Amino acid sequence: MVLNVAVVGGSVAGCAAALAVSRGGGAQVTVLERAAGELRSRGVGVSLHDDRYAELEAAGYVDAAMPWAELNRRIWTVRDGDSPEGRAIATHPFPFRAYGWGSLWNELRRRVPDEVDYRTGAEVAAVEPDADGVTLRFRDDGGDGGDGRTERFDAVIGADGYRSVVRNTMFPELSPDYSGYLAWRGSSPGEGPGTDARIVVFPGGHCMIYRIPGPDGEHRVNWVLYTVPPPLDGTQPDLRTPTSLPPGRLTEDLTEHLRALVAEHFPPVWAECVLSTPAEDTLVQPIYDMEVPHYATGRLLLVGDAATVARPHTGGGSVKALQDACSLEAAWRAGGGDLAEVLAAYDADRTSVGATMVALGRRLGRAQVEETPDWAAMSEPDLEAWWQRQHQGDARSSGFGGQALGRP
Ligand SMILES: Cc1cc2nc3c(=O)[nH]c(=O)nc-3n(C[C@H](O)[C@H](O)[C@H](O)COP(=O)(O)OP(=O)(O)OC[C@H]3O[C@@H](n4cnc5c(N)ncnc54)[C@H](O)[C@@H]3O)c2cc1C
Repeated sequence: MVLNVAVVGGSVAGCAAALAVSRGGGAQVTVLERAAGELRSRGVGVSLHDDRYAELEAAGYVDAAMPWAELNRRIWTVRDGDSPEGRAIATHPFPFRAYGWGSLWNELRRRVPDEVDYRTGAEVAAVEPDADGVTLRFRDDGGDGGDGRTERFDAVIGADGYRSVVRNTMFPELSPDYSGYLAWRGSSPGEGPGTDARIVVFPGGHCMIYRIPGPDGEHRVNWVLYTVPPPLDGTQPDLRTPTSLPPGRLTEDLTEHLRALVAEHFPPVWAECVLSTPAEDTLVQPIYDMEVPHYATGRLLLVGDAATVARPHTGGGSVKALQDACSLEAAWRAGGGDLAEVLAAYDADRTSVGATMVALGRRLGRAQVEETPDWAAMSEPDLEAWWQRQHQGDARSSGFGGQALGRP
């Protein structure tokens, strides 16, 4: 029997999950993506740890032809008077490959087989599971103002991000927790720090700066700055309810706060990387996290940020999403059409990995944003000892950049 499977969400996790189930065999897959048209590059970077990349390449989810920029080291940097690049507190290995978000998505979208029905402009409004299948209700009103059309599936995969409607159906009592701080993100032209990523640290936060491939073969400088926002004036959405402010929706308060902070705390060269991004191209993402007790229940299962949201300091969100797909593919092949068996194996493999990454993200967020040390007073050994403490003594296996595939 051919199973009829829907994937809600067609971003990184959704494309990877569609690929996984198609490869697993015995299923007709439909991807339902809310956005109309192609998902466009958000102009931001994503970095993948070299070792995790190698595992994903071997599994056939990514390949070397995707445009990427090599990163080797990460230099922890603090302002030092007018010194152009500031003072390096410590240098760590940073074996990562940097991508533009768009190239990662394009690569995965390209790999989704033609037999998969990938629909855009298809927003799922409600998920209604029962003993025999799952009814999806779409947010299209057929002209009568109500949420109308429905479609039946044997199983539904939630790849619909941190505000997942599939997860809300599985665990209505759970919702992402606001960390209390934001990420401002943007990119600007130039090489930036080359193969050395910079992490500019300041009281109450830090900023990652690294190069990514630009759209025309050149490099751009990607930056992500984390800190607590100023008291907001009420014109923004309530940040405790999961939300994001896309480019162009940055309020004056938030723009001013970013500019003043950078002017005060950044060495001039790295300040320029941030300040040369126009406000209308800067996006703000409140940082959330959440974990689920299970990745699969009944006929529903979760992948990517729909399943667990780890704070981005882990540098492993996309890796986690792609690994979810690898694990699902393995479970699907082994299950031989027995849906209950597939879901149980997948749940057993991934739930603890998600929880580990969420815990790591909280520790790193506390140390690098909520309770920052006196960076300027730190020596290299001080920083080394502090970094090891965040990883409970074992930075290599704590999961920074993502857990090794197949190891909870
Ligand atoms: C500031 C920041 C920095 C990051 N940096 C990195 C990094 O360096 N490295 C890394 O590996 N990861 C990083 N991440 C994490 C990474 O971006 C995500 O974990 C990863 O992209 C997984 O995304 P996803 O596909 O699960 O969800 P999303 O990309 O959010 O996709 C969800 C999709 O579902 C669609 N959708 C939602 N609801 C519905 C619905 N009801 N019906 C139909 N479609 C729907 C949406 O339109 C969207 O396309 C970062 C995250 C943040 C916030």
